[in-house]
Amino acid sequence: MKIGVVGLGLIGGSLGLDLRSQGHQVLGMSRREETCAEAIARGVVDDASVNPALLTAAEVVFICTPLAAITPTVEQLIPYLTPATVLTDVGSVKTPVVEAIAPLWSNFVGGHPMAGKADSGIAAAELALFASRPYVLTPVATTPIQAVAVVEEIARSLRAVVYHCQPEEHDRAVSWISHLPVMVSAGLIAACMSETNSGVLALAQKLASSGFQDTSRVGGGSPELGVMMARYNKRELLRSLQQYRHNIEALIDLIEQEDWIALEQQLELTQMARHQFNVKNGV
Ligand code: NAP
Repeated sequence: MKIGVVGLGLIGGSLGLDLRSQGHQVLGMSRREETCAEAIARGVVDDASVNPALLTAAEVVFICTPLAAITPTVEQLIPYLTPATVLTDVGSVKTPVVEAIAPLWSNFVGGHPMAGKADSGIAAAELALFASRPYVLTPVATTPIQAVAVVEEIARSLRAVVYHCQPEEHDRAVSWISHLPVMVSAGLIAACMSETNSGVLALAQKLASSGFQDTSRVGGGSPELGVMMARYNKRELLRSLQQYRHNIEALIDLIEQEDWIALEQQLELTQMARHQFNVKNGV
């Protein structure tokens, strides 16, 4: 297949590597000439350009730009696409993207591969980034089932685990398990940095080990991505953060009251509840 990838960063680059390894012809487009040249040099794409005309031959196009650029990018691409071209995106928030693009392009399927890491840009792209990870598709009533099938088959070929849901359900669910953790983790790093004793801060920085590694990872990622989550999923993120504040205050109360039994009961509940989420046991 001829597959277009627009926005050659972490997600677009990783997608290109996987798709090429399967024998697809990958046509890339990005904002900067240097990124296009690097994508060709790294073997992420067969060809790349800042000019959307390159994508005319593509049967499927993945939009992998930052959230704010997804709709303007689709508007820029439309004059170059044939009506049968299937468009999909990888944006971390779905409702505003689907609401904006579904009326512009009937063969559009909203998507979100739930994979990532702290680094961004094409240098961070890697093979098999999506393997064993959830890949959410958010078709709406007007989305053609053939277009959904095309995107789903490609997502499965990445060895991702495909889920379907409404864009609004997606945004509420990812607020809990993706967007809230970014803000909580950022708050954790900021709280540690507020230590006023410079000797203690330096010691804490040296002693940081696996616990801090796990809990600070998502708060130490791309600021641009974090701001986009907050801007585009503001209502759900605020709802999650307010509930989180309530839970933190309840924990503070238990510790202030030295209610160790209630604290233990609470931590037993969270220990059990963690295994109901898609996380590896013992990790
Ligand atoms: P990234 O590494 O920063 O890559 C985005 C790329 O898009 C940049 O390399 C940039 O390339 C290009 N770009 C920026 N503005 C553009 C524009 N106006 N037109 C065309 N290309 C443009 O970001 P990412 O982490 O891959 O995220 C991309 C998308 O994936 C976002 O929508 C995000 O919500 C979603 N996502 C991210 C993750 C994650 O954990 N990172 C996970 C799942 C989904 P140039 O060098 O050419 O400027």
